[in-house]
Amino acid sequence: MRRYTRHSGIPGWNQERLASSSAVVIGMGALGSEVARMLAQSGVGHLVLCDGDTVSESNLNRGSLYGATDVGMAKVDAAAAHLSAINPGVHVDPRPTWSSCGVGLSELRDADAVLSCLDSRAARVELARRCNLAGAAMLDGGTWPWGGEVRLYTPDGACYGCALDDAGRAESDEAVRCGAPQNGAASAASAPVSALIGSLMSATAIRMLLDLPVRPGVVSVDATLLSSHRVRAERDPACPLHLTIPAKAVERSPYSSDALVRLLLARLEPGETVLTWADFPSPDDAAARLIQLRDAAPDQRLRDLGVAPGEILTVVREGRPDRYIELARGGRR
Ligand SMILES: [Zn+2]
Repeated sequence: MRRYTRHSGIPGWNQERLASSSAVVIGMGALGSEVARMLAQSGVGHLVLCDGDTVSESNLNRGSLYGATDVGMAKVDAAAAHLSAINPGVHVDPRPTWSSCGVGLSELRDADAVLSCLDSRAARVELARRCNLAGAAMLDGGTWPWGGEVRLYTPDGACYGCALDDAGRAESDEAVRCGAPQNGAASAASAPVSALIGSLMSATAIRMLLDLPVRPGVVSVDATLLSSHRVRAERDPACPLHLTIPAKAVERSPYSSDALVRLLLARLEPGETVLTWADFPSPDDAAARLIQLRDAAPDQRLRDLGVAPGEILTVVREGRPDRYIELARGGRR
């Protein structure tokens, strides 16, 4: 294909391999749109884009995908349209919601790369926890006024939460409704710095997709000095985010997140209950997000509660996780 002629001669590049690989991009602000564009131009075959926000005029000073006519559209839908125009050969799967509601644990597990382009600590902690549960690496990026960081966390090493204290990790415990806007205070950001960090993330992601060596850890980039350095990132044995779902305990369900609550509950044994992240308050604790599915209305659809496609739900017996149910990925988004 002539589109990719200039890739030939790049050591380790394999166009067919990229075409058959998939990447999940969580957060479609400036970093996410840079990353998604570069992966699409490179010929990555399947892109899942997840963001519950809409394009605002204040997004237009940076990022390479959105224009004035996109203001008011869901970011993922605007991005999908532009990416399809840039490279019609790429399949783009837009998820207009927040990460734990939009991308299931089995999708994180099975993706060839998970890119975190989020703009808050709480959202990164939550994604780190979910990547660890799924046994997935997390490639995270962050920017500040004249620089930023690229952070690659692998399941056997440090995670984003390892560098935080308990208060920092606990920020993810704040109730966040899947359907509600999640905008934090706007921070300073510009086109060149977003492109700089987005480029480094994209190069790392493509090397991961090509199974070329990458070095886990944190790299800090300073645009005022045109310099970069590695930041120490060690696993904290006390970091509580390192729970992993044992693969042997996962059972595949015929139901997707389109299924009704009662269908899933009917598959439980006596004494079992299912926990899920959901979009309605528990009767016991209005702030809790991890709730028992039996507290939901039986004729609600799982996805209307904020259960993601391909989510892995925890089945609890006598207060302990006993087995896990993996939802099918079909159904509407
Ligand atoms: Zn950790």
